[in-house]
Amino acid sequence: MPPLVGITIDIDLGISSISVSPGREYYLMGKNYVEAIEKSGGVPILLPFYSNGKALDKIISNLQGLIISGGVDIDPSYYKEEPIKEIGAINPYKDSFEYKIAVRALELNLPVLGICGGMQVLNVVAGGSLFQDIYSENSDKDKLLSHRQRAPRWFPYHNIAIKPESKLHKIIGSENIKVNSRHHQAVKKVGNNFIASAHTSDGIIEAIESNTNTFVLGVQWHPEEMFATDHNAKVIFQAFIKFCEKYKND
Ligand code: MN
Repeated sequence: MPPLVGITIDIDLGISSISVSPGREYYLMGKNYVEAIEKSGGVPILLPFYSNGKALDKIISNLQGLIISGGVDIDPSYYKEEPIKEIGAINPYKDSFEYKIAVRALELNLPVLGICGGMQVLNVVAGGSLFQDIYSENSDKDKLLSHRQRAPRWFPYHNIAIKPESKLHKIIGSENIKVNSRHHQAVKKVGNNFIASAHTSDGIIEAIESNTNTFVLGVQWHPEEMFATDHNAKVIFQAFIKFCEKYKND
C-alpha cells in the first residue's frame, strides 16, 4: 500500500489586495508539494486546520508521513520573543495547527519532512529559536549571502555544505549541493535532540535533523519547487517516502 502523507496547507485570509477573493477565507496549497509526493510513490492528504484535538489524533493515527509546508513568519512568542520591526506576516491559524501536529508527529516517531517555514516549526517545537530577520539580527550582516532569490523558483541559487555522516548526507551522497533560497528567517538556536546538518558559507543553517527520531528532516529550501529539474530534490522526497513506507501505525 502506498503511504498516506499528510501535508499542512495554508490559508488566504482575504485581507490582502492579492487575495483570491477579498473578504473570504480560502485554503491554499502549492500544487508542486502534492505532485512531488505522488511522483515519489505516496498518497498526498491535505490537512485543514483541525481545531478539535480528537480530529487531529484521528487523522494522524492514519498517516505514515507528514510534510510541514512553508508559509509566512512564525509568531515569535512561540520562542519567547517579541516581534522586531523587520518581521513579516504571521498566520496564527497555521502556526497553531502546525505546532500541535508537529508535537504529535514527534511523539509518534512519524516520518516528517519540514520545508522552509516547516523546518522552522520543527525547530521551535523542539525548543529552539529563530532569527526573526537574518539581515537585521546578524552581527556579521555584511557577510550574509542573498537568501531571497530573484530568479525562477526552481533555480539552484546558493551552495550549502552538508555535514558529513549526517542523515542528510547519507541521503544526498554529497557534501556540497546548490539549492534555491526564499527566506529571511532562519534557525538560531537548534532545538533539543536536533543537529544542524547543512549551512551556507555565511553560517546560516539550511537543514536540521532529529538525532533521536527515525526520520525528521527540515530543509530551509524548497525541494518541491526543484522536483522537476533537480536530482537532489527528487532524492530527498524519495528517501522520505521510503521511510513512510516502513512506518507502522499502532
Ligand atoms: Mn538560503
